[in-house]
Amino acid sequence: MADPGPALAHSSAANLLPRRQRALAAAIQGPFRLVDALAVGSGGWLAIVGTADQTLIVPGRVTDGCFVRSPVTSAALHSPDAGRFRIDLLSPPPARAAPEQPIDVDQTNESVILAGSWVVKWQLNLAPNPAARRLRSITTAHETGVIPPQRLTPTPRAFIEWQDDSGDWLTLATAVDYIPGAEDGWDWAVRLVREHSQGQMADAISPFARIGQMAAHMHVAFAAEGIDFAGSNDLFHIHRAALAELDDALRLVDGPEGHRLHQRQGELRRELDALQELDRTPVIDIHGDFHLGQILRSPSGEYLIVDFDGSPVLAPADRLHRAPAARDIAGMLASIDHIARVVNYRTAGLDPTRALSWIPRAQAAFLDAYRSGLDEAGQHDLLDERLIRPFLVQQECREFIYSVRHLPHWRYVPDAVLTDMFPI
Ligand code: ADP
Ligand code: MG
Repeated sequence: MADPGPALAHSSAANLLPRRQRALAAAIQGPFRLVDALAVGSGGWLAIVGTADQTLIVPGRVTDGCFVRSPVTSAALHSPDAGRFRIDLLSPPPARAAPEQPIDVDQTNESVILAGSWVVKWQLNLAPNPAARRLRSITTAHETGVIPPQRLTPTPRAFIEWQDDSGDWLTLATAVDYIPGAEDGWDWAVRLVREHSQGQMADAISPFARIGQMAAHMHVAFAAEGIDFAGSNDLFHIHRAALAELDDALRLVDGPEGHRLHQRQGELRRELDALQELDRTPVIDIHGDFHLGQILRSPSGEYLIVDFDGSPVLAPADRLHRAPAARDIAGMLASIDHIARVVNYRTAGLDPTRALSWIPRAQAAFLDAYRSGLDEAGQHDLLDERLIRPFLVQQECREFIYSVRHLPHWRYVPDAVLTDMFPI
């Protein structure tokens, strides 16, 4: 069958994007050009589409002479490898005619549930992405006994990849087990801390110890792929980037929150300057966007880490780079703090002191379990503790920048954290 190239001329950006990302269509200009395509099933295509300034990954079909994004995930997983496309199946896929439903949560890519058993996450753009490599490292570490068998992530099932001109494999889609009824931390942790704050007998500490242990196992698995060292030149760049983010936050945040941030800028700068005094620190593959929104809790109480796409604040190519383990640790410590702020903000009539006093206890449970996990694996030195505080400050600057750009009301969170961290 003819490839979908000619039909692309009649497509609009909205035809090519997932329903939830239609708002981005205005920013995507044609002409659309077919970079490559794989025929999947009867009439389906896995297309790589060049636009004026990006390259989209579009599973779809030709409808009324126009190429349109459509559910062809099952057909894609049943295709043999061809040309530059590779379908790496770790398990047999669900039946060919398996129903495909969208996952109905806020998301940056397009995840679908296949046959009620796999979640397949289609990347929106063709770009370097660390997810497949990270998931493969964790699988290998389980298989080789480097970490215990208890799973850390929904079990990986398949990767769909495409080889670019330089021979690198870029991830188009990742399939993992679907966890029915799972909630992410924005739901389960907020509820838990709210119940705890209302005086209910909820165990609001041990989940965070489990997550600390999981973080240790994740980092031990990544370290098995290699440990590098950042030298003074790399640390200079890390320091400079953190200062630039502080400057961005100072410039962007106005009102009383901006005032409180400005009052603290001397101390914040001093915290970041600690990065300047280091000349060597270990770096490994990391999760890169490690927070409670990435920790699923199944109805049976199993915790699982998702979303290995790396840091959303870095350029795609930089998401592949090794980084200090403390980046993930600061991310999770900040997130624990954020959950308590959200509970206090969203729960009318609640005494805020209970959630506030929970923060350091939950953080300590997480960090202690993390350190023990590293110790047990003989990897104590993976965590450079000196980086935690500067990275915490940098994370709150990122939260401010994010709030200004994407979620205005969120600024109460970094404001509350930094105001408490640096009392005047
Ligand atoms: P994004 O890159 O868009 O943040 P995620 O991979 O974090 O995508 O997934 C977004 C949400 O989809 C998660 O927060 C969770 O609610 C749900 N989800 C992701 N993976 C699974 C899974 N394997 N089983 C059930 N729900 C999942
Ligand atoms: Mg996510």
